[in-house]
Amino acid sequence: MTADYEFLTVDTVADYVRSVPRLAQRINPDALVSVREIGDGNLNLVFLLGDATGRGLVLKQALPYVRMVGEGWPMTPERARFEVDSLRAHHALLPEHVVEVFDYDPERFIIAMEDLSDHWVWRGALNEGLTHDGAAAAMGRYVGAVAFGTSALALKRKELAKAVAAAVNPELCLITEDLVFSEPSVDAGRNSVLEQNKKDATDLAADEEFVTAMGRAKWLFMTKGEALIHGDLHTGSVMVRSPEGSNTCDSVKAFDSEFAFYGPVAYDIGCLWANYVIAAARAFALGDEPRAEWALGMIQQTWDGFEGELRARWSDRRDARVWREPFLEQLLADWNEESRLFAAAELARRTVGAAKTKDIETLPEDLREGAARGVLLAARRFVRVRDDSGTPQDLATLASDTLRESRTS
Ligand code: ADP
Ligand code: MG
Repeated sequence: MTADYEFLTVDTVADYVRSVPRLAQRINPDALVSVREIGDGNLNLVFLLGDATGRGLVLKQALPYVRMVGEGWPMTPERARFEVDSLRAHHALLPEHVVEVFDYDPERFIIAMEDLSDHWVWRGALNEGLTHDGAAAAMGRYVGAVAFGTSALALKRKELAKAVAAAVNPELCLITEDLVFSEPSVDAGRNSVLEQNKKDATDLAADEEFVTAMGRAKWLFMTKGEALIHGDLHTGSVMVRSPEGSNTCDSVKAFDSEFAFYGPVAYDIGCLWANYVIAAARAFALGDEPRAEWALGMIQQTWDGFEGELRARWSDRRDARVWREPFLEQLLADWNEESRLFAAAELARRTVGAAKTKDIETLPEDLREGAARGVLLAARRFVRVRDDSGTPQDLATLASDTLRESRTS
């Protein structure tokens, strides 16, 4: 059984580094000046190590259960392999926007990676009211590079088959399928909202058009194996950094991709979009309209980064004989439409489901009420957009109108 392995502690990480020769060039285990467990995530242990010469290293270890709930919810630590494989594949495609992995220990499920502790977790930065311009476009480029570089557009037929087979990740996918697509409208006992939002949650669950759309979203998620997607690309899976006194990023990195598998490209875009809407809901609730509009502006920026990256790589596609320009336009139109659907799913699950966001949860109750209501209403409206020519900016406008009319500030 895989559960039979040793967990790292602050007292054993130095020995661990000593036991892995290739890590010796990254950090000196005999001169560690700081060792901290910094995992704030729901799933794993994360240690940050620093040595006397100022070098850092991060060790992330998967536990055989979900950390958030404890041993009562077992989960395969093999998920670390999906994270490592995808991070490596993605890093090869766009090194500047993906955390670098140095080593993987398949027996103890430990990933050694680049120390990004001079960055902010993007969600944290957003909630502090900080501005990291460029991050949204960078993450769009990241999704575009992955969509092209891990799919049939770029890989030889046999390489693609191998990559798809190696990334079959049903345990993690099942979590998404249940929590993101089913449970927002069919409570499995994990949902919760404020008393004042109970009616909003009931209305969502009773909205036939929404539930039907979620059925379609789930189907797409389970069947549309287009590319090796990140699978959980919310603002807590991105690190951002700006130089002192600047609002513009000098570094943006995706990380935490254990949900990676061959799935729909639009899932990653939709996840980002939804989290911008949630950041905007917070700003509206706090009465900061310019910031809310800034957050919603990132919807188009991510799309433009995504589209630009695809267009830049398009000339390298494997079969230009049939994958002509009109097909690229068709792909983009489909992905735009599917991104709206996936954004709706993420909006709903982050509001009524078990994994909520600090953006909304840290608001005082009277303000939280309107923010949560607006986010749920936005989810229901997103699935009703029929306009094939609707741009991401149109969606941002719809979100803005919806959040504005729902706020309780
Ligand atoms: P989980 O899978 O449990 O959600 P994460 O990969 O999200 O774990 O890591 C949890 C937290 O640890 C992150 O939110 C971040 O604060 C910190 N962290 C993770 N990786 C790094 C890194 N490479 N550099 C610095 N901090 C990191
Ligand atoms: Mg995480």
